[in-house]
Amino acid sequence: MRRTLIAGNWKMNGDFSANRSLLSEIKAGLPASLNCDVLVCPPAPYLAQCAELLAGTAVMWGAQDVSVHAQGAYTGEISAAMLADCGSKYVIVGHSERRAYHAESDELVAQKALHLQKSGLLPIVCVGETLEQRESGQTNQVVAAQLNAVLDVLGDMAAMVVAYEPVWAIGTGKTATPQMAQDVHQFLRQQMAARNAAVADKVQILYGGSMKPENAAELLAMPDIDGGLIGGAALKSQDFLSIIAAA
Ligand code: PGA
Repeated sequence: MRRTLIAGNWKMNGDFSANRSLLSEIKAGLPASLNCDVLVCPPAPYLAQCAELLAGTAVMWGAQDVSVHAQGAYTGEISAAMLADCGSKYVIVGHSERRAYHAESDELVAQKALHLQKSGLLPIVCVGETLEQRESGQTNQVVAAQLNAVLDVLGDMAAMVVAYEPVWAIGTGKTATPQMAQDVHQFLRQQMAARNAAVADKVQILYGGSMKPENAAELLAMPDIDGGLIGGAALKSQDFLSIIAAA
């Protein structure tokens, strides 16, 4: 049985005061016995704040991106070791916003995932097709290329999480239907199973793209959907808590 992971991707939102309120509301509203893992991914300047406010709670924290370099003269970059030093457990890589606005290639995303594993961190590897790609029947081809580029270089397929995030569903209020998402999740698991069926069975595959309290339960009920990567709804404590309750 795969454990459900509910992960909040805060993107470039928040400040010390808003984060403090959000986290204290989440902590206060968490059920005493959680039957899923909970993660928040704030902007990097707030990792230390999350470490302080979440220490000793069931909520984990992580980052939204990482450098491909280990250290040195890379102005503006943040290394995997630094993110680990801040107590991060997971780091998102290959989010469609980074692929689109920072021209991140499948190969670069793979190198980032590899760096994270070498520092003992778990990459959350995002894959997903654009609307144009879906409408032209290329969904499987696109997500397979994105995933396989990472699997080709990663040492350990067990130490990663996959997030299927159809680009057309991110921040748009349009959600994939549970069956549409399930079909892609199952396909992604088959891609991993072709390499190692036993490990593929254990890898969590999250759905992301306008997941909210109203649709979380039916998405999470699908056999290959093992959690959510949540943007907008992760910034509202009641919405995030409702999704956790639906898990
Ligand atoms: P959304 O974002 O929930 O606001 O659609 C999800 C994501 O981009 O990770």
